[in-house]
Amino acid sequence: MSTLIKRLSVRDIRFPTSRSLDGSDAMNAAPDYSATYVVLHTDRSDLEGHGLTFTIGRGNELCVAAVKSLQAFVEGRKLEEITADMGAFWRQITTEDSQLRWVGPDKGVIHLATAAIVNAVWDLWGKSVGKPVWKLLADMSPEDLVRCLDFRFVMDALTPEEAIALLRRRLPTRGAREREMLERGYPAYTTSAGWLGYPEEKVRRLAREGIAEGWTHFKQKVGGNIEEDIRRATILREEIGWERTLMMDANQVWEVDEAIHNMRRLAAFEPWWIEEPTSPDDILGHAAIRRRVAPIGVATGEHCHNRVMFKQLLQAGAIDFCQVDAARLGGLNEVLVVLLMAAKFGVPVCPHAGGVGLCEYVQHIALFDYIGVSASLDRRVLEYVDHLHEHFLDPVVIHGGRYMPPKRPGYSIELYPETLAAHEFPNGAVWA
Ligand SMILES: [Mg+2]
Repeated sequence: MSTLIKRLSVRDIRFPTSRSLDGSDAMNAAPDYSATYVVLHTDRSDLEGHGLTFTIGRGNELCVAAVKSLQAFVEGRKLEEITADMGAFWRQITTEDSQLRWVGPDKGVIHLATAAIVNAVWDLWGKSVGKPVWKLLADMSPEDLVRCLDFRFVMDALTPEEAIALLRRRLPTRGAREREMLERGYPAYTTSAGWLGYPEEKVRRLAREGIAEGWTHFKQKVGGNIEEDIRRATILREEIGWERTLMMDANQVWEVDEAIHNMRRLAAFEPWWIEEPTSPDDILGHAAIRRRVAPIGVATGEHCHNRVMFKQLLQAGAIDFCQVDAARLGGLNEVLVVLLMAAKFGVPVCPHAGGVGLCEYVQHIALFDYIGVSASLDRRVLEYVDHLHEHFLDPVVIHGGRYMPPKRPGYSIELYPETLAAHEFPNGAVWA
């Protein structure tokens, strides 16, 4: 049976999270978590592909417009024709229209829009074969998986042949690792207690609740006033003790030297990593910070545009933790290239999550990374933020600080119709 993608629809969906300062950090004072929400309608009434890209409010309309510019790449095509050579499809949508490529390439609004469509195709593919996306990947042969990928501009770091060899190395343990994940889940950390805009009592309460729920790793936002950062780190260490792990996230606000200076003061609190210490584009700056704040690790990636920048971060020895984002990169195809490069360079992948839908997405990425790619679970934790999951048909399930693998077919990204109606900007009930 073949599946015709008849039509793409796209909606501007926004959640008023800025009203409670959820998601507030040093760079993003008042985000309204938003989704450019794509549905691929097919000739089968029981089958749709859903995908979203994440933004934080104004500007979501730009992503919606970019999706409309790209929709011709999927409309009128057969799903099976796309999935027979997913790598070629990805190359088409990112490069075939050179006039659209001009407004990237592989970065910014056009790339965010690409992610929404590409991930909707993966959702549709998973649903069409009755598998969650992580399982679809885990059941693919190394050769089939590599055929989904585009290695253009990263061949100096990783060739398709090396990628196949890397995937083959994990074949003997795929079954055991899959069972392990289904039983125990994937280890995670929580960012929910550490938002910059939260008052002290709320931070203490959320930290205590986090411990009671079984969390062992907590992340704090820094990069405001340094004395304030120190005060909040003191509070968090008082609450979580020294046997649990604390990470810090500056959300890009510091100069390189400022990052080093501030982290030398915050080193007293033994942070495991400093995340986004400076501009996300500054590869050599991250390398310099990493050299000078060791043993504190450097983590980045949620604003890393594409596989080429990740290649350079890895080649330059700039990062200890690779934080891919499911929708900042051009969808799952490009994410998989980064997982494979990170494995070759021995850098653990700890995907970025939070926002709306990012936790739902990245659980599939982390699960496949463990089952099919990485050497071990060592130094790997997946971000978790407790916002907005109730709006999803197949929300993440957390037990004792671990993500339990989703079992429903697809990419877990489908929002309830009522949520879409109420949150559509600007006329939904929430905004009207
Ligand atoms: Mg972050």
